[in-house]
Amino acid sequence: MADDITALLRELVGIPSVDPHLTDNPAHAGEARMARFLADWLEARGFRVELKEVQPARPNLIARFGPAHPRRTLLIEGHLDTQGVHGMVVPPFDGEIRDGRLFGRGACDMKGPMAAALWSFAPDVLEALAGAGVQLIFVGAMGEERGNTGAMDLVARGFRADEAVVLEPTGLEIVLAHKGTLWFETELVGLAAHGAQPDAGVNAIRAAAELIRRLPVRPAGPAHPVLGPPTLNAGVIRGGTSVNIVAERCAVEWDRRMLPGEDADPVLGEVRAQLDALRREGLVREARVQVIKATPPFETAGDAPLIGRLGRACVAEGRPARTAGTGWYSDAGILAPACGAICVFGPGDIAQAHTAGEYIDLEQLEAGARILRRFLLTTAAGAGKGA
Ligand SMILES: [Zn+2]
Repeated sequence: MADDITALLRELVGIPSVDPHLTDNPAHAGEARMARFLADWLEARGFRVELKEVQPARPNLIARFGPAHPRRTLLIEGHLDTQGVHGMVVPPFDGEIRDGRLFGRGACDMKGPMAAALWSFAPDVLEALAGAGVQLIFVGAMGEERGNTGAMDLVARGFRADEAVVLEPTGLEIVLAHKGTLWFETELVGLAAHGAQPDAGVNAIRAAAELIRRLPVRPAGPAHPVLGPPTLNAGVIRGGTSVNIVAERCAVEWDRRMLPGEDADPVLGEVRAQLDALRREGLVREARVQVIKATPPFETAGDAPLIGRLGRACVAEGRPARTAGTGWYSDAGILAPACGAICVFGPGDIAQAHTAGEYIDLEQLEAGARILRRFLLTTAAGAGKGA
């Protein structure tokens, strides 16, 4: 087993699939090569494969095995794209092995988890699932790293599944919740004047400083039992044109992390109330807020059958059944409304994702593969009994 899965992961790492925005080398850019490799690999094992181009030469891969009119559908999803390779301190595409680790871009995020899943699609597993009326769907999504584009396209086309496991390096923890994001920009407009006469103008930079002071890092509201409190970060500030001019404009970009059940409207309402106050106090002349991007949180109940089966598979392979919530975002937030139950799972340490010396621990990779195999077999057994 160890040889098979390591060889498979080396092969995946050896196929560059860098987000095209993160490289200027055409030999590294895009997901098409990776999608083609996976299409051939899956077709050879009896999957029906479609490649759906979301952007030019950037496809989603959708592969199905089992009945066309299934009793249940199970989605295993991973993303095809990786971060860039600039500044890496290990060869990014060689899949070098040292001290029980495999190094390279994507080794951990997330070609390792993907190799574990592919390894688990063994003939006996596929046969058991199909025999129990379960359609297994493997999706390789493009464009995850910069905004979950592939997953969004999938959902927009009406994709549905009864249950889903999103592959990411969770250290073999079962992630059943993560926060959503609400990115927005506030733009403040004052009045320009000569820098020697600040009282003749209205300084938008000073107003932005006041706004940042009034919008706390920990917004009011109850914390989530798994995810903790909502948060707010001022990530970008742009303002002023010259050292000797009172700044007329200043924009701040904000990252609000949203809990399940939170709604954008009251959050933006609170921001608008603060902008109105700045206006009333004469600190700005105009102020507006605009949403840059919003992605939803997700939360699956700890007693969902999906979580139970995956937990039991962990225990059967000698690992604890640990559930967790995370601060980082994944395709699960996008896919959740299209899936009955969903979680994020995979071997590898998220702290290794995007790093200059990215690696995955091979022992954990193999454990992840064995857990996924057992999980699929249990899914088949349960479905066969009508459970
Ligand atoms: Zn990832």
